[in-house]
Amino acid sequence: VLSIRDISKTFGQRRALDKVSLSVAKGEMIALIGPSGSGKSTLLRSIDGLQTIDGGDGAIDVFGGKVQHRGRVSDKVRDARIRIGFIAQQFNLVGRLTLFSNVALGSLGRIGFWRGMLGQWPAETKAAAMQALHRVGVSDYAGQRANTLSGGQQQRGAIARALVQKAKIILADEPVASLDPVSARKVMDILRALNREDGLTVIVTLHQVDYALRYCDRVVALKAGKIVYDGPPASLGKTQLIEIYGPEFEDVF
Ligand code: ATP
Ligand code: MG
Repeated sequence: VLSIRDISKTFGQRRALDKVSLSVAKGEMIALIGPSGSGKSTLLRSIDGLQTIDGGDGAIDVFGGKVQHRGRVSDKVRDARIRIGFIAQQFNLVGRLTLFSNVALGSLGRIGFWRGMLGQWPAETKAAAMQALHRVGVSDYAGQRANTLSGGQQQRGAIARALVQKAKIILADEPVASLDPVSARKVMDILRALNREDGLTVIVTLHQVDYALRYCDRVVALKAGKIVYDGPPASLGKTQLIEIYGPEFEDVF
């Protein structure tokens, strides 16, 4: 479903991504790990077309359509993006709106946005939003304003919105970094369930290596903008992790 070939991204003098190539099949659950500044967020944002890549021969295809090519975000990106759900560390929801509205807005695209803001939801949108809220276990909070929800509830709401968008790929950038361990596990459990039961493709960046090893089938490690490991969690040894993260890693592991 996703093919990344030789993409680079430079900010001023700094090369955030250095000829990265990655092929992702439908239904994979991939952890993207690596030290701070290694390019994880930059890679996810490039896949979603949120930022351009350097010119050259690099390309990103999603569902066979080009998201990015030779440094340009393609016109097709909008079609592709509706099938990509992006979940960030925080600030995923519009704080003043209810959880329900936030999730329902996922189905409307740009045109229906104002209708949604006026509360004129089509019946099928209502049904889809409630179903998604049930799926992630926060339907009890549907009427509550997003900025009064806990971090874990908001994150689950963001996942529900991606479901309403009929996302086939979920890109999650540190979705559990600001959550307590129990909420973090719930969010990871939901991502895993959507992957296993609904066949969604998930790419998730994680600071916690133990989550990466426990929840994902495949681990991709970035270091200084290059992929330095790509394989199953089982073959990723401690020595290799210390190479990726540096000697300080020994103390945290
Ligand atoms: P973290 O684990 O801290 O989130 P990361 O692996 O996600 O780190 P990125 O955010 O992708 O790292 O950043 C990669 C490099 O690109 C860093 O050196 C960063 O300073 C640089 N960078 C990212 N975005 C920008 C930007 N908009 N302008 C300038 N430099 C940037
Ligand atoms: Mg990041």
